[in-house]
Amino acid sequence: MQRGMTRRRALVLGAGLTAGVASVPALLAASGERKVVVWSEGTANVDPKSKVVYPDDINSAIAEGLQPLTTEGWHVHKASLGEPDQGISDELLNSTHVLIWWGHKKHGEVKDELVDKINERVRAGKMGFIGTHSCHFAKPFKKLMGTPCSWREYVDDGTSAEILVKEPDHPICKGVRDFKLPKIERYGEPFKVPNPESVPLEGIYTKPDGTTEQARMGLCWTVGKGRVFYFTPGHETYNDYYRPEVRKIFINAVGWAAPQ
Ligand code: ZN
Repeated sequence: MQRGMTRRRALVLGAGLTAGVASVPALLAASGERKVVVWSEGTANVDPKSKVVYPDDINSAIAEGLQPLTTEGWHVHKASLGEPDQGISDELLNSTHVLIWWGHKKHGEVKDELVDKINERVRAGKMGFIGTHSCHFAKPFKKLMGTPCSWREYVDDGTSAEILVKEPDHPICKGVRDFKLPKIERYGEPFKVPNPESVPLEGIYTKPDGTTEQARMGLCWTVGKGRVFYFTPGHETYNDYYRPEVRKIFINAVGWAAPQ
């Protein structure tokens, strides 16, 4: 499938072949291969309460869920804070089409220089960004949003949630039906972010006392020329990233966020 082959890439490839010097990277680009990088901070696999759920960290669980994309020409790459260049070298970043981010306790360790490069690449329309759960306070997400990005409250008290497909025709909702998360850390509205262009997923929390409360669960923005998606669930002690509905949402979100 040549979905990712733009006219410009085709022309570049043609020129290379004519000269007999088509490089391997040019051929890969021309073949339509695209790269999604799943980044996490390397704490979920260390803390005793979460490492039983995510022994190989959250980036592994999300990346595993994205494997169906490899049959569509996507390369799925994992990155972590503790690696050289905080997991994202210039070379990697410059060949990444979608960056997925999970962080919680080490937001402050992420270098501003890297944050600036991520922000610039998204705004230039070269890469989409997907943030999830406690990434609301991650530096790249805050930089893209330009607002405090705080929720009213954060409560882990045994609340459950019904995740509702509000925009069935939205690409992120393709093949997704309403589903239930038996436990969720409750992030209470308002969520101080810019008005999203769409909210394909909403949620109804049911608290232990039986009362309910609404919150946005999937929000979409266009920032500069790039696309940004935020998914509210994903607390490190719950198995959300192994759930088929969540995995489908992430697969869809990569396709939506990728430069078109
Ligand atoms: Zn959490």
